[in-house]
Amino acid sequence: MREKIYTIPVTDAFKEECECPVCILEKKLEDEYIEYILGPSLMEPDGRAETNKNGFCRHHIQMLYSIQSTRHALALILDTHLSEQNSKLKKMYLDKSDALKRDSEISMVKNISNKISSKQTETDKFLDSLIKELTTLENSCAVCNKLNYTMDRYMDIVLYLWFKEDDFRALFNSKKGFCLRHFRLLAESTKKYLGSKDAAIFLENLLKLQLENMERIQQEVNWFTKKFDYRNNDAPWGNSRDAVPRSIEKIVGHCNLK
Ligand SMILES: [Zn+2]
Ligand SMILES: [Zn+2]
Repeated sequence: MREKIYTIPVTDAFKEECECPVCILEKKLEDEYIEYILGPSLMEPDGRAETNKNGFCRHHIQMLYSIQSTRHALALILDTHLSEQNSKLKKMYLDKSDALKRDSEISMVKNISNKISSKQTETDKFLDSLIKELTTLENSCAVCNKLNYTMDRYMDIVLYLWFKEDDFRALFNSKKGFCLRHFRLLAESTKKYLGSKDAAIFLENLLKLQLENMERIQQEVNWFTKKFDYRNNDAPWGNSRDAVPRSIEKIVGHCNLK
């Protein structure tokens, strides 16, 4: 059963005039989650456990910081996140500190005698687990986690509506395609949610729509470049006046272009 709480935002986003309706969906969710993190989540033990563990990606921490009025809330979140991460790193180090010290002492002796050892040392093993730990933290984000979960629900709804509702299919097909990131997400969802027959039907439709619109945007930005030629001074702009920001959105999705 596809819940109404998911279908309404999907159809609303597809009614907007834009380069990618999925970006509209995602942006709305992202704003809601940022507000949630700085508000209700702060007082919920589960919410705090999530931000303490996962922290934020660069993009979302910038969004959180951009809201001046919630600086105290952000400081509380950062305080407990850092405290948890510091204890984790400290424990990693303390658990191995004797072995690391031993490696360091042995290496000093070997340096003096110029001996080379090919054996994996405790230092090598520690470095591997440290890098793994830091990479996991770097790639985790409490906002991205929530976004990815709901965007996945939305993609299931998009595909469901496309097959079940003629009006939605017509609306989808009348749009200007998607940004490349969401084109990829739709392709992944096609694989995940559709059987092979439906996948072939949807993909054929999606590819046609996407390629047509990738060419359209390229032509619009191409005309923008040609408008710099004095011979085209009096020629009409057509749709090309804002072709640069729209091309960027087509390539990377919604971003705050100043
Ligand atoms: Zn998009
Ligand atoms: Zn993020």
